[in-house]
Amino acid sequence: MSSDIKDITIIGGGPTGLYGLFYAGMRGVSARIIDVLPELGGQLTALYPEKDIFDVAGFPRILAKDLARDLVEQAMQFDAEVCLEERVNALNPNGDVFELETDEGLRPTRSVVIAAGKGAFKSRTLKVERWDEFWKKGLVTHVRDPEAFRDRRVLIVGGGDSAFDWSWALRDIASELTHIHRSDRFRAHERTVGQVTDAHERRELKLRTFHEVSELHGDEWVNGVTLVHSKTKEAEHLEVDDVLALIGFVPNIGPIAEWGLELEGNAIRVDSRMRTNIPGVYAAGDIVSYEGSLELISTGFGEAAIAVNNAVHFIDPNAKVDPGHSTSSKAFK
Ligand SMILES: Cc1cc2nc3c(=O)[nH]c(=O)nc-3n(C[C@H](O)[C@H](O)[C@H](O)COP(=O)(O)OP(=O)(O)OC[C@H]3O[C@@H](n4cnc5c(N)ncnc54)[C@H](O)[C@@H]3O)c2cc1C
Repeated sequence: MSSDIKDITIIGGGPTGLYGLFYAGMRGVSARIIDVLPELGGQLTALYPEKDIFDVAGFPRILAKDLARDLVEQAMQFDAEVCLEERVNALNPNGDVFELETDEGLRPTRSVVIAAGKGAFKSRTLKVERWDEFWKKGLVTHVRDPEAFRDRRVLIVGGGDSAFDWSWALRDIASELTHIHRSDRFRAHERTVGQVTDAHERRELKLRTFHEVSELHGDEWVNGVTLVHSKTKEAEHLEVDDVLALIGFVPNIGPIAEWGLELEGNAIRVDSRMRTNIPGVYAAGDIVSYEGSLELISTGFGEAAIAVNNAVHFIDPNAKVDPGHSTSSKAFK
């Protein structure tokens, strides 16, 4: 892990954090972004990748996952450090720097922009015994590499976008794919539900409604599950090599509440420069509260620009807050 002192560290890789990362790059300061999730994009990728968004300036309509992809591309034009699957647990001031304590160790930084949305997302877990025993031993809540499932018997659990997207994507990769959901009402985009239902009809996978996992079996690795019909309570054994529990996320402001920040409910109080009560610590996006604040992508973008430009001035008082116009910025020459 890198122990470089960065000028700005952004906590949260949602739209606000990504746009902040872009601004840090445009201002020519060193930056990193940290997110507890395995993928950048925040709510856009974790909660509603297949939904169309209609109120982002310049885009009459854009799929959430496409907006996330473009924000990542825009932010990554510059040399930023990206730390994924790392929760920031503590913010420790130490002289001129803040030592951010994450799951991987210390990440020192001269300033901080908290763009943590509703807090660190934690994957929902199945309410079954032996969850901890099989965690990452055949039981996962994210797909990192689809090839890991090649020629394997895979069980997908869930009725949302993520479950349906992966069901569709893994149908040709897995040797056997079973997709279960506890009811026949799905939260996923109807187009993907249609694709998966058609694939079921063509016997490319098995989509089974009203089924839940009641037990996990195996020794070192999952080798089977007990499925229970949620209405008839009939149980059956299914042999599988991997269980993908894609049943959503629970947001939790968690450790941020302990950092000595002035809070209003679950939000961080900021002023019009996006300053928190701790000098050098800024906040933007869904996590902030000020008179008139709105929880929208578009306001998060504006707040990110204000937070990062003020952080640039904080770490170097000779640097102007005003970034000038990108059309004449040296960063793009
Ligand atoms: C279904 C749905 C539809 C929506 N539709 C619209 C819409 O049409 N238009 C619109 O403007 N808005 C919409 N929104 C709201 C919009 O998605 C949010 O306003 C936006 O995502 C906020 O961005 P953010 O970057 O501030 O936070 P988030 O997107 O929540 O990102 C925050 C990130 O910070 C990470 N994080 C938090 N704490 C930590 C920590 N301690 N350590 C490491 N990482 C951490 C989280 O894992 C997360 O990835 C919608 C929201 C939902 C749920």
